[in-house]
Order: sequence, then C-alpha cells, then structure tokens
Amino acid sequence: MKKLSLTFDDGPSPPCTEALLAVLSYYSVPASFFMIGQRMLAQEPTIKRVEQAGHVIGNHTRTHRNLCGAPFEAIDHEINRWGQYFRPPGGHYDDGILEYLRLYNIQLVMWDVDGLDWKLKTADEIVEHLTAQIGSLDDDSGIILLHDGDSEDLNGNRWATVEAADRIITSYRARGFEFVPLCEMTLPRKKWLRGT
Ligand SMILES: [Zn+2]
Repeated sequence: MKKLSLTFDDGPSPPCTEALLAVLSYYSVPASFFMIGQRMLAQEPTIKRVEQAGHVIGNHTRTHRNLCGAPFEAIDHEINRWGQYFRPPGGHYDDGILEYLRLYNIQLVMWDVDGLDWKLKTADEIVEHLTAQIGSLDDDSGIILLHDGDSEDLNGNRWATVEAADRIITSYRARGFEFVPLCEMTLPRKKWLRGT
C-alpha cells in the first residue's frame, strides 16, 4: 500500500508552523508535530490550531537534549511522561530511553525518509532528497521527517520546508500515494526497538 506520513520536528515555530497548517488544511492531509516542550510554553494559540486541525502532537523532549546514557530522573524531566509518540532529538536513543517509553506506554517514532531540511537550503534540494528516498522504500510506505522549528544554520528560515511539503503532497498524491496519520503506519518497527 502506497502511504506516507508527514512528521515535523522542533516546533512550534510560527509563522512557519502556521504556514504548514495552511498547506495541510488545503490538501486535507494529517500530520504529526514533534514539539519541544520549552518552545510550547509561549505558543499556545499555534498549539491550539494544530490540535483543532486534528494533527498529532508528539513529544520531542523539553529542551532537545540527547538523553543517551542519562539517568532516569533526567529522562523523566525531559520526556515528562506525556504524549502517545516520542521522537528522540537527533534520533539518538538507547535501552534506558526505550525502557522509559515502555514504562509510560509511549511509542518511539523514528523515520524512513529524511528531508535533511535542517541542512539543505532550497525546496528543490529538499524535494530531490525526499524523492530519492521515497523511490527506494521497501513497501511504498514511509514516515517522512521534516522540521517546522528553527534551525540555527538557517536563522529560523523554514519556508523551503513549507514549499517542499506542498510539492511532495501534490506529486505523490498524483502517483497514488495516500498521506495518513501515524496511527495508520505499522508501528513499532522492530529495528527501532533494538536500541543502540
Ligand atoms: Zn529535533
């Protein structure tokens, strides 16, 4: 089955989060936003709009800290027992983190397709990078990683991501792909749960 699930990390970060919401709403596409706790504090209106649109809000830690090797108390402080889904900052996790997630019934969510949009500067580059990976997905099914949050390298510029998301939705729908929420993807993946 041809299906893709869009995920956006490091927000909320209006106005780009809001611009993405407009794109997703235009195409009626569900997505997941893995937000950083300390960025959520000042962004209640945006968070409300994400929720009202029916998107999933996932946990991306309180301060975007790499928790590998961290003691339970530190993991607990950063993940804070909330959310259905967790994405570790930088994709770094170990057995301690997996144990914590199991304890609080939180699902680890990594990705299959990486937009590298924290590094690539134009929508063309991001779309090209995504397209190559989507083309080689095992079962035509994958979770796409993009970022609506600030990037120090790009001075918070996320407009390339917004445009890339729009183009990916348009072109893959035309090729018969369906954009689905995370709950319609096969999770958990065994390869993620082995730890590192
Ligand atoms: Zn991140």
